[in-house]
Amino acid sequence: MPTKYVVVLGSLLSGLGKGVVTSSILRILDFYNYKALPVKFDGYLNFDCGTMNPFQHGEVFVLDDKSEVDMDFGIYERFLNKDLTGDLSITGGKLLGAIISKERQGGYLGQTVQIIPHLTNEIISRIEKLSDEKKPDVLIIEVGGTVGDIENSYFIEAMRQLALKHEVVFINLTYLPTLDVVGEQKTKPAQIGVRLILQDGIRTNFIICRSQTALLESTKEKLALFANLSKERIIDDKDQQTLYNLPLHFMDVGFDRLLLKDLGLQLRQPNKKKIAEWKENVKRTISPKHEVNIAVVGKYTHLHDSYASVKEALIHAGAKTDTRANVTWIESTDYDDGKGDYNIFKKMHGVVVTGGFGSRGTEGMINIIKHARTNNIPYLGLCLGMQLMVVEYARNMAGLAGANSSELDPKTKHKLIVLLDSQKRITAKGGTMRLGAQECLLPDKDSVAYKAYGKSPISERHRHRYEFNNNYRKILTDKGLKITGLTTDRKLVEFVEWSSGFGIGTQSHPELKSRFESPAPLFVSLIEAAKSRNV
Ligand code: GLN
Repeated sequence: MPTKYVVVLGSLLSGLGKGVVTSSILRILDFYNYKALPVKFDGYLNFDCGTMNPFQHGEVFVLDDKSEVDMDFGIYERFLNKDLTGDLSITGGKLLGAIISKERQGGYLGQTVQIIPHLTNEIISRIEKLSDEKKPDVLIIEVGGTVGDIENSYFIEAMRQLALKHEVVFINLTYLPTLDVVGEQKTKPAQIGVRLILQDGIRTNFIICRSQTALLESTKEKLALFANLSKERIIDDKDQQTLYNLPLHFMDVGFDRLLLKDLGLQLRQPNKKKIAEWKENVKRTISPKHEVNIAVVGKYTHLHDSYASVKEALIHAGAKTDTRANVTWIESTDYDDGKGDYNIFKKMHGVVVTGGFGSRGTEGMINIIKHARTNNIPYLGLCLGMQLMVVEYARNMAGLAGANSSELDPKTKHKLIVLLDSQKRITAKGGTMRLGAQECLLPDKDSVAYKAYGKSPISERHRHRYEFNNNYRKILTDKGLKITGLTTDRKLVEFVEWSSGFGIGTQSHPELKSRFESPAPLFVSLIEAAKSRNV
């Protein structure tokens, strides 16, 4: 069967949750046992988002195959529970780079290279190649930005042309405001969105309306009339108690059946067991039996998107353990130089210190780690959070005053964390860190790490340039720090633990592999430890 396509366009506003809509469609098609894969287009001219500041772009998501991709890939994987690949991420930078290098190679000899047809053909052939290679039943193409942006205009034109050759269902995600004063749902902005898409030569099969409240029948009728659609093609996307309910909601309102029909796909029996498990997880997310308070410490906390995967991993682990993890965001710079409110931690059942780059806020993180260790608060350190756990231990338990990571204080006498050997000759910044899935041994069966995963070796995703300095292994382990995870050649330290209480740090980013249906083991262990703490 040839691959069919769904193209998800956004109109009017960004931030409406196109990634969640795309992911919900992926989840629904998977419930029906169709193989569905996402493709994401981002209009920026960077090759990928790996060199962008988290404040600009939110979290950089990393895939098994070492690709650094848009955070929407995190949403796709969390919903679909499949490992995706970097070729599914198309950016303006990748496309323009390819066109120019092809032109320099003589690939277009004699021709004037133009947006149409050369760039649009490049897009169409990339998409067809993905279909040929991966053979999905459906490719769902999410177009970043909104209709009318200059950045995505040529991509949208390519989607119009794709529909001349293939079966394509277009979806317009738009916003439907409710005016507080009159409580009326206003369709005019959505109508303008419809018109903008029509101007691009595209008629959408569905309009999905983000709104605070359920769509009124009269609202659907009105919008349907202006959009030349039948009423049932105006799909309600009202605020959900949890994002993970959206696939179920879409199925409740009958979107699944219409979508399958438009795609020419048989309405098969869905996988009832998978749906029942998903529903159970949603129920435990919305009304769990237990609650814990978790402090998430970071240096980009003003933009929670920088830690999207950490936040979601806590939700996944919470669904598994029937527990709501209430997150308190702690900006580590507030704890630099002995400042900061430690009373807040009296109410915390657990602390997570997240990943990051550069020295800003790291002294605050070290202070908080010390506070967690000396007050027996369950602790999970992620990447930088593991490196600073080592630094804190060196300073306060092994008497190595001023110990630090050479990234943060190049002049320190005690360099506990140093540049990876493999990084020493690297000067280029894009895609050059130690990235992607890496195997790790957990030799100690009594360790928190082994108990969490229940096996060895394990694989987690990475994104770092620095590592534990092996010259300090003996000094720190003599003082009680446990090294409980190593790379398969035993050269790099991957996990460390305190010898008493629950304190574990990993050089990896386990949050990047956490999914609603298979939560990250370390987060589950953290929540279990948090539940047994009395505050
Ligand atoms: N900056 C540290 C390193 O590069 C930690 C990276 C991270 O937390 N992802 O090793």
